[in-house]
Amino acid sequence: NKPPLLVSACLLGQPVRYDGHGKAIPSPLLFELARRYQLFSICPECLGGLPTPRPAAEISGGDGGDVLDGHARVITQTGQDVSRAFSDGARQALDSAIRHGCRQALLKANSPSCGNRQIHSGHFDQQLQPGSGVTAALLQRHGISVFNENEMDGLLLTKPQP
Ligand code: SF4
Repeated sequence: NKPPLLVSACLLGQPVRYDGHGKAIPSPLLFELARRYQLFSICPECLGGLPTPRPAAEISGGDGGDVLDGHARVITQTGQDVSRAFSDGARQALDSAIRHGCRQALLKANSPSCGNRQIHSGHFDQQLQPGSGVTAALLQRHGISVFNENEMDGLLLTKPQP
């Protein structure tokens, strides 16, 4: 019985990103991941009801935790406030994690939903700053360890948590 792992759908190659593409991790790593874990894919922005493709969005005035607390907002490049959709998607991703018993997640780096360490500045200037995306923040608050695709070595070396 393999332990369950929540995974960003775009990392599995599903074309769910804002630009309509995926961002698959290299297949040898994917193969190893699937050998060790039962994978449950989620795209929080899709779960929140946003279309694909969709305008790029960044968190303005804080990070994902601040969005959950109502102190920051997620704004698209075209000026639309999509905070509600991002928060709804995060809750559904958490529901999925809980339903499947996931104690760990592998989420796409730097995303306003999935980023676990860095997010964009909120100014659409290609700059990154420390902070979590909305879904990563919610999962972390519930004790789920979040890795990104650049930390896969750590995830594969970690003894899977039952
Ligand atoms: Fe990938 Fe997460 Fe963005 Fe969906 S919300 S496209 S899973 S990074």
